[in-house]
Amino acid sequence: MLDYIKGFIELIKGLGITGKHLGMHAVTLQYPEEKDVMPERSRGVVVLLSDKEDGSLNCTGCLLCMKACPTAAIIIDAPRGEDKKRVLKKFELDFTLCCYCGLCEEACNFSALKLTGKYEYSTGDKDDLLWDVNKLQDVGRDVDYEDKRRKKVAKKPAKPVVDANAKVEDKPAKAVEIKPTESADDTKPKTEGEA
Ligand code: SF4
Ligand code: SF4
Repeated sequence: MLDYIKGFIELIKGLGITGKHLGMHAVTLQYPEEKDVMPERSRGVVVLLSDKEDGSLNCTGCLLCMKACPTAAIIIDAPRGEDKKRVLKKFELDFTLCCYCGLCEEACNFSALKLTGKYEYSTGDKDDLLWDVNKLQDVGRDVDYEDKRRKKVAKKPAKPVVDANAKVEDKPAKAVEIKPTESADDTKPKTEGEA
């Protein structure tokens, strides 16, 4: 009998808790119709970033991210060309190995790689988790990022371009300006008087 009374009391308690939350908003989201906003520094899929102006890959093939990856999830083939610059021939990321540690992003000096808030890439086929350079770039195209690389790159080409143009244009300009002021009678008294 005592057990029945205890059970009845617990039932009333449970109904009270249910009634208390009846008028409240639901805590859970109706995924996939509703999605939570991921924090800015959340660690979802890794993507390759593109130049904000011409859309080309920021990656220089320096291999630093591959060397920093503790699980060997990044595979890069980027041999040096005749000008000794690396040519990116292959960039793959195996998400079956990636542990989303972020060390690759930290190692990259060229704003070329980033962990994003994207996470909806589950699949039943593990081959789908080996992403090539095109997929890594496509998924990263709408990812915003701070372009630390641009400041360094913009300074280097500016010098030779400006100097080369200045040499060609300055020569004829000086010759034209000197001719009309060649009347010696006008120029000499002015300079002497000022002296
Ligand atoms: S997040 Fe970590 S495990 Fe994944 S690719 Fe980058 S360095 Fe490798
Ligand atoms: S993603 Fe960055 S660190 Fe990795 S190879 Fe490209 S430029 Fe180098």
